[in-house]
Amino acid sequence: MTVTVRFAPSPTGLIHIGNARTALLNWLFAKSHGGTFILRFDDTDRQRSTDAFAGAISEDLAWLGMHPDRIERQSQRFTRYDEIAEQFKTAGLLYPAYETPDELERKRKRQLARGRPPVYDRAALDLTADQVRELEADGRTPHWRFKLPEGTIEWTDLVRGPQSIDLSSLSDPVLIRGDGTYLYTLPSVIDDADMGVTHVIRGEDHVVNTAVQIAVFNALGHEAPQFGHHSLLVGADGKGLSKRLGSLSIAGLRESGMEAMAVASHAALIGTSDAIEPHSTLQSLAEGFDLAKLSRAPGRFDENELKTLNSRLLHELPFADVEQRLSDLEISGGEPFWNAVRGNLVQLRDAAEWWQVVHDEIVPAVGEDDREYVSMAREELPAEPWDETTWKQWTTRLKEVSGRKGKPLFMPLRLALTGLDHGPELAALLPLIGRDKVLTRLS
Ligand code: GLU
Repeated sequence: MTVTVRFAPSPTGLIHIGNARTALLNWLFAKSHGGTFILRFDDTDRQRSTDAFAGAISEDLAWLGMHPDRIERQSQRFTRYDEIAEQFKTAGLLYPAYETPDELERKRKRQLARGRPPVYDRAALDLTADQVRELEADGRTPHWRFKLPEGTIEWTDLVRGPQSIDLSSLSDPVLIRGDGTYLYTLPSVIDDADMGVTHVIRGEDHVVNTAVQIAVFNALGHEAPQFGHHSLLVGADGKGLSKRLGSLSIAGLRESGMEAMAVASHAALIGTSDAIEPHSTLQSLAEGFDLAKLSRAPGRFDENELKTLNSRLLHELPFADVEQRLSDLEISGGEPFWNAVRGNLVQLRDAAEWWQVVHDEIVPAVGEDDREYVSMAREELPAEPWDETTWKQWTTRLKEVSGRKGKPLFMPLRLALTGLDHGPELAALLPLIGRDKVLTRLS
């Protein structure tokens, strides 16, 4: 059996960190089993789905390092769905119902008032041919409900363990709306069956759908895949993310300067028993991957934690991985520059500020009290060639001649050379700035 999974977004908006987590869990599961990853666009809703969103989703996945083995679109498979719908209608598995939303709501209220569960009463099954004619003459078109079998659906969830749902607690689900459009339930099952999906990994908001979908798999005569339902993400405040999805879109995080692998590491490791550490490749995340490590409690997404992870990732990133992007930022300091500044970055683009310090004009900040010391430092500046030991040599000498030590020894130099009171090691910056500029800054 080849493991086959799918990530099935509706291209009606951008994907956010929660969707990316679902995609990654599928990806890492597939890759850790030598399997196949399908990107399936659930675009049966032709009004709301757009090619632009589908393109943006592909781009976001690619940015995170996920290149699907196969791309499918539900909008190209309507003939297949119609074929199965017809079979189900003929077999009496799909039946027409005519209630309006208002009528259904009244039924629900009556049932609840009598202390009964608000389950659809199947009144539509009792309509006579005359009643149907009358309803249709009235201009009503039917929606189609799937007749759930009796009994209980059970499965062993890859995350949640043994599950059991009593079908009599559910209404017969509507699979086709009054306007003839499909709800997600049926196309999804037909696709999973036709595309050989072996494992469905998705959010726990789909648990109840799973019971219905297993019943539909059974009706198709197709063995159901295995299911794993991960918990959903909440924000640091413990509330759902839905209200902040705009800023937590993958595109938004990318634009705000987050590294793809910081986002991927965070998304893949939140809510697991593993520590949230920066991984530099999906391969490395796949190595320790196991759905059994997922907790059933909601995963907590904290943007500050992501930022911390982002800087930790940058601090370890080798030059080769960023060479192109530094050159796009017009930074030509090469590996020595990168190694000098990476430990001070929260975002890669912060490197531009340090490049300015090294390469361009800065405004030295020298306090009145330090003027004499700084000009002494200028006199004592070692001759070239310079390397990483020059700083030590220079400050050891300055310590002797000025009698200063600690902060009063170093800080005036940092302020004079960079204009800032913080930053990368001066030992590394000094040779990058170069003797000519250092002399100017010390004057
Ligand atoms: N399009 C569905 C969704 O985004 C897919 C759910 C599933 O994975 O089956 O919720």
